[in-house]
Amino acid sequence: MKTKALYLYDSYIKEFQAEVIKFEGNKVILNQTAFYPTSGGVDHDTGKLVCNNVEYTVLDVVKEQDEIVHLIDKEGIKVGDAVQGILDWERRYRLMRMHTAAHLLSAVFYKELNALITGNQLQVDKSRIDFSVDKFDRDLILFLVNKANELIKLDSKVKVYFVNRHEALKEPGLVKLAEAQPPEVEEIRIVEIEGIDKQADGGPHVSHLGEIGNIEVLKLENKGRTNRRIYFSIKP
Ligand SMILES: [Zn+2]
Repeated sequence: MKTKALYLYDSYIKEFQAEVIKFEGNKVILNQTAFYPTSGGVDHDTGKLVCNNVEYTVLDVVKEQDEIVHLIDKEGIKVGDAVQGILDWERRYRLMRMHTAAHLLSAVFYKELNALITGNQLQVDKSRIDFSVDKFDRDLILFLVNKANELIKLDSKVKVYFVNRHEALKEPGLVKLAEAQPPEVEEIRIVEIEGIDKQADGGPHVSHLGEIGNIEVLKLENKGRTNRRIYFSIKP
C-alpha cells in the first residue's frame, strides 16, 4: 500500500490522522501524510507524531524508493497504530513562501533574460537558485528581483490542480510540462501563478503571492555561464 501524500492536494493541512503501515528502527511509514519529504530541492517538514498519548519528534522526512519515510526520535510505534501528525507549521509555511518565491523569480528571469533554472535549494532561512544566462549583470538581476516584489503586491492567486497527460498535450502552455514528465505519469500536478507562470511541481505553495512578503537578495555569485547564483530570503 502506498502513502497518500496529502500535501499534494492541500498545502495548508497542519494536522492529520493516519495509520502506521510500516515501522523499522526509527523509520515510520503511514497510510497518509501531510509531511513533505526533501525533494525537488525543497527542504523537508518537521513536527511530531502522537501515538497512544506519547509524542514522537519527526526529525527528518525522506523519500526512499517512492515511499515517504518519517524519521522519529525513539521506538515504540507499531504497525496498525493510529497516529496524529502535527507539522511544525512555522517552518513549513516559510518553506511554502520560499518555494512560491522561487517560482516567481524563475518566471521573471525567464521572461526578461531567457534564463533557465539549473538548480535550486530552498531552505527555511536562506534559499538559492542557479540559472543559466549569457550575461551576468548584477544591477539587472537586482532590478528584476524588484520587479518580482512589485508583482507580489498584486497578490495573484496560486492555483494547484491536476491535468491528465493527454489533455495537457493538447494545451499549448502545458505541452512542455507534459513532455518533461516520464511517460508513465498520467496525472500531472500543475502549480500556476495566475497570469505569470505554470510549472509541473510536487511541492507545497502558498495560495496567494502576497503571502510571500518581500524577497531580499542576500548574495549574487557568478560560478560560470550555466551557474549564475542568487541567494535570497523573505521578509517578514
Ligand atoms: Zn517548485
